[in-house]
Amino acid sequence: MKELVERIQKDGRVLGEGVLKVDSFVTHQVDPVLMEQIGQRFAEVFKDQGITKVVTIEASGIAPALFVAQTLNVPMIFARKAKSLTMDEELLTTSVYSFTKQVTSTISISRKFLSAEDKVLIIDDFLANGQAAKGLVELCRQAGAGVEGIGILIEKSFQDGRQLLEEMGLKVVSLARIAALSNGQVEFLEEDA
Ligand code: 5GP
Repeated sequence: MKELVERIQKDGRVLGEGVLKVDSFVTHQVDPVLMEQIGQRFAEVFKDQGITKVVTIEASGIAPALFVAQTLNVPMIFARKAKSLTMDEELLTTSVYSFTKQVTSTISISRKFLSAEDKVLIIDDFLANGQAAKGLVELCRQAGAGVEGIGILIEKSFQDGRQLLEEMGLKVVSLARIAALSNGQVEFLEEDA
């Protein structure tokens, strides 16, 4: 997606250790105009898949996922990383290792929001080693829901997340694909949409 690639070139910052900082438009301050365009692009790609729910993980996935859900006219669910006191009902849970925070956390979704009738589109901001997306797939599968695809804003193609998800038989669509982050420069591959 040209607009996202250009924005990464303009405002993304390369940190050491293969990390890209996009906190001025995605992960902390959020650009709603860009998020709306992203929502429309994913909705266009997945419009014939019969999606009934958009699923993401807090916090940075919520903004893009909400715009996708609005365009597809379906609910958006975000997996929580900490158990809320008000989540007293039955939960779908799994553990996820965070690439950036280097800790394992339990993520959960209330069982009542996903069922075997659902066709899910998973959305997340980054794809690195694929653990966050894999955790979301596991929550969907616990509910018997089908996962129709995974939409990623920024894929770091030098890590193995995409391969892991494709080996699980999942369709991955990334709006920006990064081949390398070196010497403060971002090198792109051709994006999927
Ligand atoms: P994975 O589970 O695929 O290894 O990592 C995905 C999660 O890690 C994303 O949800 C995102 O929060 C975080 N993440 C991974 N790589 C980066 C990065 O380069 N920059 C930022 N800002 N977050 C990242």
